[in-house]
Amino acid sequence: MSRARKPGWLKSRPPSGERFTDIKRTLRDRDLHTVCEEANCPNMGECWSGGAGEGPGTATFMLMGERCSRGCNFCDVETGGMGELDPDEPENVAAAVAEIGLDYVVLTSVDRDDLADQGAAHFARTIAAIKERDPEILVEVLIPDFRGDLDLVDEIIAAGPDVIAHNIETVSRLQWPVRDRRAGYEQSLSVLEHAADTFEGYTKTSVMLGLGEYDHEVYQTLSDLREADVDVVTLGQYLQPSRSHLDVSDYVHPDKFETWRRVAEAELNFLYCASGPMVRSSYKAGELFVDAVVR
Ligand code: SF4
Ligand code: SF4
Repeated sequence: MSRARKPGWLKSRPPSGERFTDIKRTLRDRDLHTVCEEANCPNMGECWSGGAGEGPGTATFMLMGERCSRGCNFCDVETGGMGELDPDEPENVAAAVAEIGLDYVVLTSVDRDDLADQGAAHFARTIAAIKERDPEILVEVLIPDFRGDLDLVDEIIAAGPDVIAHNIETVSRLQWPVRDRRAGYEQSLSVLEHAADTFEGYTKTSVMLGLGEYDHEVYQTLSDLREADVDVVTLGQYLQPSRSHLDVSDYVHPDKFETWRRVAEAELNFLYCASGPMVRSSYKAGELFVDAVVR
């Protein structure tokens, strides 16, 4: 397949400024990892400062190490060789959140199929540690599928997050080759549906575009997610992390993203939809959540 050229709308300015440097220092001092940095996310400047500096700042912490038990073909995280969990990580994350002064935290993790509970207790301990220090801090957790074990999802719910997110990533037909074979459309829908049924907070998911999906498949996916009572959806452009990852099929025009946003909000009644080439599942998560839910 010939390589599509990256269009101009995907260019972003590198983040800078005093706050950015301070946050980086805190993370290094505590040996913590964020998806924002590891993925060199183009939105760091906006997210970490809370948009114009008035909204809640958001950062996405990556728990349980930098190596994953799975190998999704769109993701840059290394597969295999996972280490022991760091028992101090929950407290260290909570301390860093307080030090940085974040009001909205996203916690995510690699998948840990190697652990008996797939890391659910560690996730739950981190939520609890943040809430213990300051119950006002909003915590969004972007959780694995836990191979469809809904008791593990309940363990996360019991720790008291405000938003539970799980990414379905792509349309049904493309789950493989996009995701690891242990993941799947129905399994992810069942996790989301269970969370929506049993959890008092909000549920959220994310879909990448530009992987070769057809419009009717995107519409079907959005409808299935709404049917599962998911509250919030984000849509963003897939970008190839390296030449050994899946090719980008096409660069979706910003107008098309805007059309999907309108369809999701006006026609399918999602609480809100963040949709744009640079949008990631945690894109300005705090700012958008507060605008839609709290204000
Ligand atoms: Fe990356 Fe998550 Fe897939 Fe692991 S499970 S390879 S972290 S997308
Ligand atoms: Fe971090 Fe997510 Fe924002 Fe990127 S979109 S900077 S990963 S919070």
